[in-house]
Amino acid sequence: MSTSDVLHRQLDRRLPTVVSGSGPYLVDDEGRRYLDASGGAAVSCLGHDHPRVVEAIARQASRVAFAHTSMLTNAPMEELAHRLIDAAPPGIARVAFLSGGSEAVEAALKLARQYFMEIGQPERRYVIARHQSYHGNTLGALSVSGHAARRAFYAPFLAQNVAHIPPCYAYRHQAPDETPEAYGLRAADALEAKILELGAGTVAAFIAEPIVGATLGAVPAVPGYFRRVREICDRHGVLFIADEVMCGMGRSGTLFAMEQEGAVPDLITVAKGLAAGYQPLGALLVGQRIVEAIAAGSGALAHGHTYMGHAIACAAGVAVFDAIREEGLLHNVRRLGGLLEDGLRARFGQHPHVGDIRGRGLLWALELVESRDDKRPFPRAARLHAAFKETAMRHGLICYPSGGTADGLEGDHVLLAPPYNAEPAHIEEIVELVGKALSTVLS
Ligand code: PMP
Repeated sequence: MSTSDVLHRQLDRRLPTVVSGSGPYLVDDEGRRYLDASGGAAVSCLGHDHPRVVEAIARQASRVAFAHTSMLTNAPMEELAHRLIDAAPPGIARVAFLSGGSEAVEAALKLARQYFMEIGQPERRYVIARHQSYHGNTLGALSVSGHAARRAFYAPFLAQNVAHIPPCYAYRHQAPDETPEAYGLRAADALEAKILELGAGTVAAFIAEPIVGATLGAVPAVPGYFRRVREICDRHGVLFIADEVMCGMGRSGTLFAMEQEGAVPDLITVAKGLAAGYQPLGALLVGQRIVEAIAAGSGALAHGHTYMGHAIACAAGVAVFDAIREEGLLHNVRRLGGLLEDGLRARFGQHPHVGDIRGRGLLWALELVESRDDKRPFPRAARLHAAFKETAMRHGLICYPSGGTADGLEGDHVLLAPPYNAEPAHIEEIVELVGKALSTVLS
């Protein structure tokens, strides 16, 4: 079994060794080339070997790599914060930089709690999240994640003051005689019911992914859902945290996915696309009233990590941000996203095992089901995602299939998140290779 000294996720599986990357392609040490159609897990939004980012990292490394940000600030961190605030929805006043998505979520949860302590509402102790969600793997972030399989081992360690409501998931939850708008209001009203059940004045925050990513596969909310969520949060004094770790930084076709929802969050987490995989980097965007409450109260963040605001990571973030803007990549995301949607619908719209095709921008998924008619998932033992992943790799395609949350409430899905600077020919190749992998897996 000793194929590696690394404690890999799957201990005894030998993985190909990646040696280089260029544009949307990765190459392993045996010379095999893979089209990276998911950027890992929606990370590599500029593809691989982007010269501007590589150069920014080298330049910053040659100046200074690390200085603790509780003692010294650094120019890339200040510049990136400035750019993010300039581009963010109104009301965002400050940014904290972390080393990834889970850390950004942890910081959001802790800051929400600190806010209520600062303003003298210590009884606000609950966080409401959604079933079939993923917010990260550290204990705090996992506590709010509605992912049964990932939680299973750790139940006694997870925070107890968390409640879950159903997600906004039209394919499975919208009633046949219901409009999307009516369904959206009904789905959001579950939040109010939960707040009242826990006790008005006891809930600190609601956290949700604007587009559910890893667990369900690219599920946007129906129109009006998040506006209603915002109203409910305002009515009950609850903070709204938008977890844009996967769908943020342009992936949805706008820099922040919430821009398309007509509702402004109090806290926004981003990561993945922020430094596009060139460095580990996450950020927490913080609303004005939270900053003001801390300024008027203790005057300091109660939370922190050693590598916050790492200069090289932030320099990569600045270069990625400028590439997205100056290379017109948001426009590209919308244009290529349209091509990907059309290609998927044309190829799989009538496929007997593709129950749903959904997404936004360049974040798309197919939900695979045993039966299209009654949306029945494949039985647990026959779940396809692991086989699909391996088969796709044999065909030279990297995508991000998942078997859902083991709640047994949804089918397998295949998540696609190509780079923003891909070419139309790459999008065609992705659709073609997904088709080949699907035929092989189902044969
Ligand atoms: N939140 C969301 C919405 C995510 O998709 C992820 C990662 N898939 C995380 C948080 C956790 O991020 P990380 O793996 O960088 O800790």
